[in-house]
Amino acid sequence: MRSDDPPPQVVARHVRQRVESRTCPWCGAKVPYTGRGRPAEYCSKACRNRAWEVRSAERRLQRDIAAGLRQLPMREVIRETVTEIHVVTVQGTPREPTTAWEWLEQLTELAEQLRAGDLGRQHWQHSKLYGVLADVVVALADAYPGGLERLQRKVPRR
Ligand SMILES: [Zn+2]
Repeated sequence: MRSDDPPPQVVARHVRQRVESRTCPWCGAKVPYTGRGRPAEYCSKACRNRAWEVRSAERRLQRDIAAGLRQLPMREVIRETVTEIHVVTVQGTPREPTTAWEWLEQLTELAEQLRAGDLGRQHWQHSKLYGVLADVVVALADAYPGGLERLQRKVPRR
């Protein structure tokens, strides 16, 4: 292929997925899957038993509440604040973020998409993202007087 050839066009793509391991819903330990039979849910009998104990305690509690033997559990009012990110287009070209505030919004959105969006599952994209983000950290360390070490001490707790 010559360098001025157009990139090859993907005409068909087949993706197959198989569970290789999952995490124990009680302790979070990795539960490997051999590929045969029904995958194990818990890492051990102890975890399965403790999960069952909690479930049956919850059932008893619900039954008691229904029978008026206990007070209802505490309720919380949650206020949800949604921040929308808009790409400002100037003469057909998306404007790049230029202020720290705009970058904070963009990078926060990136983290959000990695946690909850399709991007989190696109594992083949992650090494590219990691490379650029590592480069950003290096550039930030170079720009800040005293470098990364002093900068890290200033990071606000979240
Ligand atoms: Zn476990």
